[in-house]
Amino acid sequence: MKGRFAPSPSGRMHLGNLFSALLAWLSARHEGGALVLRIEDLDPDRCKPEYAHRLMEDLRWLGLDWDEGGEDPACWQSNRGHLYEAAFEKLKCKNLVYPCFCTRHQRLSEAPHGPDTSPSCPCAALTPEEVALRTLTRPPNWKVKVPQKAVSFPDGLQGVYSENLALDCGDFPIRRWDGAWAYQLAVVVDDAAMGITEVVRGRDLLSSTPRQLWLYEALGLTPPARFCHVPLLVAPDGRRLAKRDADLDMGALRQRFRPEALLGILAHLAGQQPTPAPVSATELAQTFDWSKVPRTDIPVSADLLPRE
Ligand code: GLU
Repeated sequence: MKGRFAPSPSGRMHLGNLFSALLAWLSARHEGGALVLRIEDLDPDRCKPEYAHRLMEDLRWLGLDWDEGGEDPACWQSNRGHLYEAAFEKLKCKNLVYPCFCTRHQRLSEAPHGPDTSPSCPCAALTPEEVALRTLTRPPNWKVKVPQKAVSFPDGLQGVYSENLALDCGDFPIRRWDGAWAYQLAVVVDDAAMGITEVVRGRDLLSSTPRQLWLYEALGLTPPARFCHVPLLVAPDGRRLAKRDADLDMGALRQRFRPEALLGILAHLAGQQPTPAPVSATELAQTFDWSKVPRTDIPVSADLLPRE
């Protein structure tokens, strides 16, 4: 059993990221499995090495460790372009890739997992002459052609999730016009290359999984055996906690809490203990139980985070 935590170092870690990281760690450690820390620094405009180093320091402060990756440059996606290139060529050879000149896809980096798909892209039908002509004025993004095919998988927390790739998702970008690799391709190549058997990540990525499962198949790779999409932490008004909630970033949290106090709060939110009583990561790993983890988004109330 091998799990992973795959953060994008685009800011200080906050309570929401930490919640996913903790569940990935607990699940692996409870089963005596290994854990990889992969740094997903694909977007050069947003990701900074200092954020990655800070993130590792924050995880260590909490008592969360890993067996592979972390400081190892080979596990930083910015150093793995050769692997993505090989996968891209493989898809090209299978006639599954085409250049797309639609302008909105140039905004891929602004929404790395977001609504970057288009059910029927007119660019798929361009002739080689039209492509050559358009390339003179605009470098294209590269998309994969998805089939009319239903892809289903049993999520460990969310139940069976299915999508018809062509209808619900559509062709999607795997490489940006400036050469930057898209998350969907990189995550598949890396999870396969690193032998990951369990993916634990936020529920916001649930709808990416059918695309990724299809990419595994198209590339002839073995997908992880198990996916668990964990609920998001939300403010009492339902808004997702984000990096802009500066009072919930690790800098602020470390000033307010000891590691065990913060872990106690997270464990309580994750259904693992009836109160937010302080607890250590190793104690939690012993008793970790997926069946107690809530399925729906979790409101974080102000009284759970008292100012000490
Ligand atoms: N790097 C992604 C993020 O920080 C997570 C990707 C994944 O876990 O598959 O949102």
